[in-house]
Amino acid sequence: MKEYTWHDCTVRIVKKKVKNVNFRIRPEEPHVICLSIPRSMTYETAEKLLEQPRILRWIENYQQKISSLPVLPQGKKEEKLQHVAYCRKRLEQLLPALFQKWEQVLGVTCNKVSIRNTRSQWGSCSLRTKNISISVWLGNFSDECIEYVVVHELAHLLEAGHNERFYKILDQHYPLWRSCREELKKRS
Ligand SMILES: [Zn+2]
Repeated sequence: MKEYTWHDCTVRIVKKKVKNVNFRIRPEEPHVICLSIPRSMTYETAEKLLEQPRILRWIENYQQKISSLPVLPQGKKEEKLQHVAYCRKRLEQLLPALFQKWEQVLGVTCNKVSIRNTRSQWGSCSLRTKNISISVWLGNFSDECIEYVVVHELAHLLEAGHNERFYKILDQHYPLWRSCREELKKRS
């Protein structure tokens, strides 16, 4: 492992049994850039990778995104765990009925729903597997917002992109979506 300071960040490079270079920044440590690199790669090569404009932009965007997310006070691990548990429980109570309702309305079927501890997005939908995952942190929000994310992800089974057709589907079925999106942006 190699660790060094770079710009305002700490770079941590770890050699692992991986094929490609992976970048990772954890929301808890927005200034630590973790790289896992193949064992055959030298640390010098990895350091050079970081200087690529594309990577620099990615890091910048990512840090901006993270800094706008709710961060719980440090040292309150217990409280945080309780909070995550609360959010998860709430979602577990609400999601089944919401998915049932909206699968029927939209005429789609989702294969599996999972609740993930991710802050980078509220929900995601895999068109290949038809699996949908929902961020546990969505449990912090109003029923309407939770419903919006369910509708949004299921609507992707009708339309993959965020295009006119996609928003038309939302307008038609869940006109509240705009205010929910604002709410999620504001408090996130
Ligand atoms: Zn989407």
